[in-house]
Amino acid sequence: MSDKAPPSFVARYSVKTRSPSRDVRVRLTQDGISIEEPDAPSTGGQPLLWRYRSLSIAEPLSAHAIDALLASSDHPGAALFVPDKSFARALASQAPQLTTSSHRRRTTRPWIWAAGTLVALLVAVWLSGFSPAKAVANLLPGSARDMLGEQVVDSMTRDRATCTAPAGLAALDQLTAKLSVAAGTRQHFKVVVVDWNVLNAFAAPGERIVLTRALIERAKSPDEVAGVLAHEMGHGIEMHPEAGIVRGIGLAAATDLIIGGAGGSLANIGVLLTQLSYSREAEREADAHALKILKTAKVSPHGLLDFFDRMAEIEKDGDGGPGVFRSHPQTQERREVVAAAVGYSATPALAAKEWAALQSLCSVTTRVEPEPDRPAPSPSGRARPGEIDS
Ligand SMILES: [Zn+2]
Repeated sequence: MSDKAPPSFVARYSVKTRSPSRDVRVRLTQDGISIEEPDAPSTGGQPLLWRYRSLSIAEPLSAHAIDALLASSDHPGAALFVPDKSFARALASQAPQLTTSSHRRRTTRPWIWAAGTLVALLVAVWLSGFSPAKAVANLLPGSARDMLGEQVVDSMTRDRATCTAPAGLAALDQLTAKLSVAAGTRQHFKVVVVDWNVLNAFAAPGERIVLTRALIERAKSPDEVAGVLAHEMGHGIEMHPEAGIVRGIGLAAATDLIIGGAGGSLANIGVLLTQLSYSREAEREADAHALKILKTAKVSPHGLLDFFDRMAEIEKDGDGGPGVFRSHPQTQERREVVAAAVGYSATPALAAKEWAALQSLCSVTTRVEPEPDRPAPSPSGRARPGEIDS
């Protein structure tokens, strides 16, 4: 009874996907990490226990580790960040499997790794099995997600114009709002169309979505664009782009983002993200969201199916370039899931007039972020938002 309790450390804990992280205290006990959250109604004030052998770590513990970002198979989806070097050292002796010597992994600084090779990124993305990346992504503060999203969109629009015909923007806003409301997650999606003759669509962090001119112009109905948008919203809702970035830049760099620094070292993220492809599991999740969104919005799910079918043909003909289909593989399974969507009465995603306006969105283009009062730089300019093209 006179045994002293082990010292406690301040930490941040996120209980599951999309829940905000909160302050907790942790202790290293004989059996595992004890996580105490005094005012947590969910646990009734009882500490949680993460057994040592249930742990996985974002970046293996080195002798110089100053923090630890952990996940546990005892509580899938949860993440724990302990910014304390004495904790890291004590943990290394309790759970030697989490150390660099047992992982035999490179200890180069992760952003050098990120800037260095796409190969490393792809390997990291494709490594299957349990990964705390998604749980970590979930810990990113909104400001970091916004910053990442801006960098991605910026890297896409740096050398390309964005499509900004006013009537088309209004139609796009209308469609985006309709689907956002149907998604019911209170997220505010921001959609940009870039003047680019390659079929592509992707979700970026911070609820941003990028579509290309080719995608808008080759769609045969507003339902097709709605289907693609709803699918990308599904990726955004699941934070797949954030998780992909966390895998891509290395988890330690992501922890820097969590605690609010190192933004400037991540300039290549946007480029990396455009190369990302998602797992089948992620695609299934995005499709499931898309079908729910479309149903709530009373938009036919067949647009999604038709679009992917037709675009797969175009890509096969070598016309579309590498684009949406490498990152969104068409599978028989996907076709069946969409086809099995329960029938419901649907109306076109946009009325004829708005649809015509959306298809003409790229009749007006802007070289910088679509801010109407800003003069466009010269055609050869490479001005970025906030910079003067001299
Ligand atoms: Zn997808």
